[in-house]
Amino acid sequence: MSFRTFFDPKSVAVVGASREKGKVGYEITVNLKNGGYPGKIFLVNPKATEIEGIKCYPDLGSIGEVPDLVIIVVPAPYVSKVMRDCVAVGTKAVVIITAGFKEVGQEGAELEKEVARIARGAGIRVVGPNCLGIIVPGRKLNASFGGALPKAGEIGYISQSGALLAAILDLAKAKEIGFSALFSIGNKADVDELDVIRALGEDEHTTVVAGYLESIQDGDAFVREAEQISREKPILLMKSGGTTAGSKAASSHTGSLAGGDTVYESAFERAGVIRCDSIKTQFDFAQAFAYQPLPAGASVAVLTNAGGPGIMAADAIEREGLTFAQLTEETIKSLGASLPAAANIHNPIDVLGDALADRYEFALRTILDDPNVETVLVLLTPQAMTQATETAQAIVKVAKEKKGKPILACFLGAGQVMGGLQVLRDGQIPAYDSPESAVRTIKAMVDYVRWRNRPRRVVKLFSVNRHRVERIIDRHLRRGMREIGEMEAKEVLEAYGFVTPEGSIATTAEQAANIADQLGYPVVLKIWSPDIVHKSDVGGVKVGLNNRQEVRDAFDLMMYRVPQKVPNDTEILGVLVQEMVKKGREVILGMNRDPRFGPLMMFGMGGIFVEVLKDVTFHLAPITPDESRQMLMSTKTYSMLKGVRGQEGVDIDAIAEALQRLSQLVTEFPQIVEMDINPLVVGPPGTTPIAVDARMSVERIKGR
Ligand code: ADP
Ligand code: MG
Repeated sequence: MSFRTFFDPKSVAVVGASREKGKVGYEITVNLKNGGYPGKIFLVNPKATEIEGIKCYPDLGSIGEVPDLVIIVVPAPYVSKVMRDCVAVGTKAVVIITAGFKEVGQEGAELEKEVARIARGAGIRVVGPNCLGIIVPGRKLNASFGGALPKAGEIGYISQSGALLAAILDLAKAKEIGFSALFSIGNKADVDELDVIRALGEDEHTTVVAGYLESIQDGDAFVREAEQISREKPILLMKSGGTTAGSKAASSHTGSLAGGDTVYESAFERAGVIRCDSIKTQFDFAQAFAYQPLPAGASVAVLTNAGGPGIMAADAIEREGLTFAQLTEETIKSLGASLPAAANIHNPIDVLGDALADRYEFALRTILDDPNVETVLVLLTPQAMTQATETAQAIVKVAKEKKGKPILACFLGAGQVMGGLQVLRDGQIPAYDSPESAVRTIKAMVDYVRWRNRPRRVVKLFSVNRHRVERIIDRHLRRGMREIGEMEAKEVLEAYGFVTPEGSIATTAEQAANIADQLGYPVVLKIWSPDIVHKSDVGGVKVGLNNRQEVRDAFDLMMYRVPQKVPNDTEILGVLVQEMVKKGREVILGMNRDPRFGPLMMFGMGGIFVEVLKDVTFHLAPITPDESRQMLMSTKTYSMLKGVRGQEGVDIDAIAEALQRLSQLVTEFPQIVEMDINPLVVGPPGTTPIAVDARMSVERIKGR
């Protein structure tokens, strides 16, 4: 079966059609008919002979033809029976509108499984159950109860919530937004978000894929495929609800800092998916992506007839990190020669309150010709002489002549600019209700272009000792130990090319002092216990010990104090005597494995205050050299690491490499579910970072 059948069925049957107004079976029938669907419509209802002038059949088998698409509206307990009828007649595409499945509990979940089983067995694709239906405006197919058929357009929409889709349709109608197709996917018994996103990606009428999702079934596949589609078409998603699966009691810093939403953020970023925080933002973005060319870069020129909005736009441009276009001498001269003396001929270009349409037209043309301008934002406020409609016409005209650079408009006000807004809509110039919304949209476009132009992802592989790591992990798993403490976690790190401080275990004060003598002073003492995860919290770390006596005293004190601060059954094995690492910046590198998306890397400001400062960033592993640098650069810590106010910076490349090595480790060992290196102490350029503390949790992986 081709998924295309959903986009272009030659005939549709509605099973459960009803003549009762207000019933879903009636609404769908009427919508299908009133939408002007040109193919054959078959209605199935054993108790009726005709509904709305369309013939009714007692069941699918009596039709005598195979409907391409079957819409099921009968109550949940009867759906399986209708599915079997579909198998019997040979229909391969089904939309189940009916609710009362997984969403209502155990019994419904069983029914849903049954439906999915029948579908799979017969190679039938099923959208739903518990959904609003599907709409393909270009084919005049309205197989939904979401109201009248919307305009045909280029936005393909997918929604996991039927109610939200109904709201979107209502909004789209008011704003005359067009769609290539709309899919309400409901409970996703069979067809899931990825099926639809993939189909929209391939659909020639769709230029923008947009949607609302509550969950993503297969994270890995989603990232992989969305990344492919994003190269061709922007994907704009609203995503609500954090992951619950990822929020297993986290004992690592990385685990506790990676909120439920973080992994989605990272997955979207990786896949080039543009995240939208509201319906409004989504349509703001979608219209620009659908109707305007992509900008070549980040430089924006603002054309206005009033100073205030111009400044608002300028502020927004700065805030969003876009650049304010520097007009060329030629443009400035040309503007100066024709605009009134009082006009501002520098960006933002102010054509003044008495500007008529022709002045806008001249200025817009001139600015678009400027090689330094990559996007133009046209602002208009309705003043005494303003010609909103004519100005809109002029913008549309110029846009048609000079293709290549995006033009966005913001006509402030309502009543007086109404005619202008209509002209802009018809002319496919996206219009915004504030300069800020317009600028945010430009920013989304610029980010998307950057993402598309990013260097090809090539992950660097280091030569490492996998064997050694395998042995350590296996040993722990065989003994049923999930936690790998500092000593052995560091061995794992060494196998992957990290440097860790010298040290050994001592069980008596005398032994500790002897080890310290061998290491050379100063040394550090750390409590050694498989049960203690955060050692400083219980007084289990003492740095800067300068001689035998201090080491002995520190040992005794630790052995006396730590047991008072930990639960009774805590096993304390001794202390770790460790060489004291030269002072440097403390950063944290970490990983938390998400059950759907895999290993999520973290980088940030390290040390014992990491949870307080929360200056951390995340990225899905494996990471490339470029991405590891991006991770560093997106923290506030970065400016400190580079060096500020005469303070020497640290070896940035060395941290980036450490991140990549960790990324390789957690990618090669799916048994590692959590890991922290905190701190990694980094010194000036040319020095080697040292992993001063590390810990990890492991889990048995099926098949290993
Ligand atoms: P925990 O995180 O379990 O409390 P750490 O081993 O990270 O224990 O030690 C806490 C802090 O002590 C580190 O952030 C670091 O500042 C300091 N520290 C620990 N070990 C060393 C060392 N070998 N050299 C220098 N400083 C150290
Ligand atoms: Mg630590």
